[in-house]
Amino acid sequence: MSAVAPDELNVYRSADARFEAAAQKLGLEDGVYRYLKYPSKEITVYVPVALDTGKLEVFIGYRVLHSAVRGPGKGGIRFAPNVSIDEVRALAAWMTWKCAVVNIPFGGAKGGVICDPTKLSRSELERITRRYTAELSEWLGPERDVPAPDLGTNEQTMAWVMDTYSMHVRQATTAVVTGKPLELGGSQGRREATGRGLMLCCNKAIHKLGMYSQNCRVIIQGFGNVGSQAAQLMHEAGYKIIGLADIYGGLYNENGLDIPKVMDWVYTQRKALPDFPEGGEKLSAQEILFRPCEILVPAATENQITTENAHRVDCKILCEGANGPTTSYADPIIERKGIFVIPDILGNAGGVTVSYFEWVQDRQGFFWREREVNERLRDVMERSFDEVVRYAEVHKVNNRVAAYIVAIDRVARALKLRGIYA
Ligand code: NAD
Repeated sequence: MSAVAPDELNVYRSADARFEAAAQKLGLEDGVYRYLKYPSKEITVYVPVALDTGKLEVFIGYRVLHSAVRGPGKGGIRFAPNVSIDEVRALAAWMTWKCAVVNIPFGGAKGGVICDPTKLSRSELERITRRYTAELSEWLGPERDVPAPDLGTNEQTMAWVMDTYSMHVRQATTAVVTGKPLELGGSQGRREATGRGLMLCCNKAIHKLGMYSQNCRVIIQGFGNVGSQAAQLMHEAGYKIIGLADIYGGLYNENGLDIPKVMDWVYTQRKALPDFPEGGEKLSAQEILFRPCEILVPAATENQITTENAHRVDCKILCEGANGPTTSYADPIIERKGIFVIPDILGNAGGVTVSYFEWVQDRQGFFWREREVNERLRDVMERSFDEVVRYAEVHKVNNRVAAYIVAIDRVARALKLRGIYA
């Protein structure tokens, strides 16, 4: 049984608490506060799907558009058994703030289907994706709401979304979704983008704190898209990756893990991460978070650092790759420990930034070289990092509150300029 407060693990509560704190510090006027606190639209769809056995099943899906004030909604589609409307609502709001922190012209949205992708066949997943997209087709679109992959979905899922939407509107519409395969209008560099963004933020943070990558021990929880790419890129940049974990368990090796070999083990040989032969000590997926290191990157899932365990976190920099890995209740504990936090809405924004580049390229019908994508990503991440950290220093708030204030202020200004349509 968990000893945390009953609502601590409710991610909507976490998102809302951060919004409240920042709105108060910003002195957001009452009407604007209410406007931004609630989503613009919440849609529930009941998705009938014939399973391979012939049995008819109905899956529950959601799409929440939190804000379209600064541009079309943008946000992933999650396939997971524990998807809930609260979670989708929180993730949609986070997308609004994330797009605003890095100043790209999108609002925020998120979607999800309650299902277990590990227990469904490829054709069942295809039918769920297509019917979910068809049910939402009038709400989606390059100028309305643009989905992307998230937990349990991938490039193939996005290809099915693009095809289904295109069939409904009777024309190929690549820009309706991002995170697509390169053959269908995907962008160079998208797969690495979130991990690259995390590394760029870590580079800035260590520079600021007078540290060097060669002396930085890094622990990464999560070895999926985000965690594995962050590990690979940080390893190449000279960081020493001493700990890794996925849902099956963790590895800890003080001498540093050979990341290319781990990548080969997991992604080419398709073997379990905890069985990696030169992995050192085996730990649980959560225990890895508490080993001493300079940089801790939770890049798996939400609610990993809570009031129950935050006192055990032993790092100088906490760089959040997952959305909501730290609960709002745990924030003050981390702050008291003097840890430099790179909050999720900044740290993992590299993914949505290159999604924005993908959307631009699709609309232009003109594709950039990988080097151009990476350079533009670096510009965005470094500028955004500087803006957040400067705000935090000038206004004497922590980095998380600063990121929210920068974001909320941008959305509020856009809202005031647009006015309220009535
Ligand atoms: P993924 O499905 O590719 O990988 C998730 C990884 O986390 C897997 O290695 C899985 O085994 C591991 N994991 C899951 N639960 C765990 C647990 N309880 N303990 C330890 N490991 C666990 O997903 P992803 O795309 O890498 O996303 C990871 C996180 O990053 C999510 O919170 C997602 O919302 C966020 N995120 C992803 C992107 C992106 O571009 N993919 C962008 C921004 C934020």
